[in-house]
Amino acid sequence: MSAQPTRPRRLSEVDGWYHETDVAIVGFGGAGACAAIEAADAGCAVTIFEVASASGGSTALSSAEIYMGGSGGTQVQRACGYEDSTEAMFDYLMAAQGDLADEAKIRLYCEESVGHFEWLVSMGAKYKESEHKERAIMALTDDCLLYTGNEKSWPFREIAAPCPRGHNLEVEGDNGGPLLMGLLTQQVEKREVRVEYNARALTLIQDDEGEVHGLVVRIDNEERNVRARRGVLLAAGGFVMNEEMLSRYAPRLKRGNIPIGNPGDTGAGILMGQGAGGALLHMSEGFISVPFYPPPSLTYGIFVNAQGQRFINEDVYHARLMDHALRQVGQGIYLILSHDDYDHPPFLNAQVAGTGETVEEMAEEVGIPPENLRHTLDFYNAHAARGEDPLFHKSPEWLKPIESPYAALDCTPGSGVINPYFTLGGLDTLPTGEVLTMEREPIPGLYAAGRTACGVPRRADGYASGLSVGDATFFGRMAGRRMAEAPARD
Ligand SMILES: Cc1cc2nc3c(=O)[nH]c(=O)nc-3n(C[C@H](O)[C@H](O)[C@H](O)COP(=O)(O)OP(=O)(O)OC[C@H]3O[C@@H](n4cnc5c(N)ncnc54)[C@H](O)[C@@H]3O)c2cc1C
Repeated sequence: MSAQPTRPRRLSEVDGWYHETDVAIVGFGGAGACAAIEAADAGCAVTIFEVASASGGSTALSSAEIYMGGSGGTQVQRACGYEDSTEAMFDYLMAAQGDLADEAKIRLYCEESVGHFEWLVSMGAKYKESEHKERAIMALTDDCLLYTGNEKSWPFREIAAPCPRGHNLEVEGDNGGPLLMGLLTQQVEKREVRVEYNARALTLIQDDEGEVHGLVVRIDNEERNVRARRGVLLAAGGFVMNEEMLSRYAPRLKRGNIPIGNPGDTGAGILMGQGAGGALLHMSEGFISVPFYPPPSLTYGIFVNAQGQRFINEDVYHARLMDHALRQVGQGIYLILSHDDYDHPPFLNAQVAGTGETVEEMAEEVGIPPENLRHTLDFYNAHAARGEDPLFHKSPEWLKPIESPYAALDCTPGSGVINPYFTLGGLDTLPTGEVLTMEREPIPGLYAAGRTACGVPRRADGYASGLSVGDATFFGRMAGRRMAEAPARD
């Protein structure tokens, strides 16, 4: 697999068309499906090219948790007693994405989020009007609403009124992804969108002025030219399965050990867009996590580095914790707990690094300087007893002194602990999906959405579960609409 931009085929070299359509879409995952539905509803002829033999992509592998809210709340938020405001959602996402935030995308996403919820419901998605109150990554019950980011933790709780915005479909277990993609696939089929499976998009077809007119697809071992009168959408996912691209752009993510995605996450869409002159954005960024909850009781513990120092409020989202863990000096990240608070973490696979009746005994076993850990625990415990955390402002609900007997879990990346990751960098696009050059000029005829583009979620320390499927489905729709508005070329 290469990290080289894919050179487009020149329009002047094309001697015939295998197929002509208004809108050509590369990839039948969440972004591609939603774009196809919108473009077809606007009256366009749409063709999807999918390298696999079925729809789905990473969206079907996911929990299909979707981050939605604002405008007074979705029907579920309101039923659960939350009156979410667009400004609070906007302020939260802007703060969470920090200096990488795309204000225009975040603004549109927040303003139209309740509309997106209603659109998903109109596609057949069912959301139960119930809240999953326990601290969790996703609801394994059929409950819908839960906190999936850093809304309740410092400093974000002081920036925007916290509100739960993670929406899970009404389905038992971690089965949202196949359900959502099943529904979207049915909607695509209902619209008589042409779908070519086992069809690998190879490159774009571009004229000498830079306008994109179609793409080259390999079907039955033959290269075929496809003409797209209104535009080509690259919705081919991210690059977590492309070793060369990871090494070149996002080596830090390789500190994780479980690339999460489908085999098609090879960056093909990004490289095709780049070859046609598209600019890349935030390619080093990704989601990377240490999934230490559930169970919630582990949040009563503290994370320390190899020097025995705390480095974050432990009530944060698991990817924010991992992001800060990766910035620590020295080799070693440990979760220190009262033995009584230990319960088996199902997604973590951390080994016990040490136990002890005294802090010193445990520290010796772990290999942390005992006097440092003693100092950290004395300071933490004295304040926790008063419901305070002057260093990192962990919420009082998670503060209580850590008492003997002690246990330390080894959460050091590389120790065998589970550290899943996927990429968030991609093509620079407008909220409409138009792909931009380095000069931020749209490339006529070229669009991107989902993980092929750099969307709303841009960093692990500001990530919230639901932002990626939310971004892919929402901005897929925006691109589908925009392509339908583009004039058809003769
Ligand atoms: C296990 C897991 C759980 C997750 N849970 C969540 C969650 O609950 N909420 C959330 O927000 N995010 C979650 N994510 C992340 C999220 O699923 C993805 O980031 C998102 O679904 C990507 O959508 P997409 O449309 O961009 O890509 P995809 O859904 O991956 O679709 C891309 C499609 O393009 C096809 N393709 C690739 N190259 C070519 C080519 N050259 N020619 C033709 N077709 C091609 C692929 O086969 C694929 O079908 C999870 C991810 C995983 C793996």
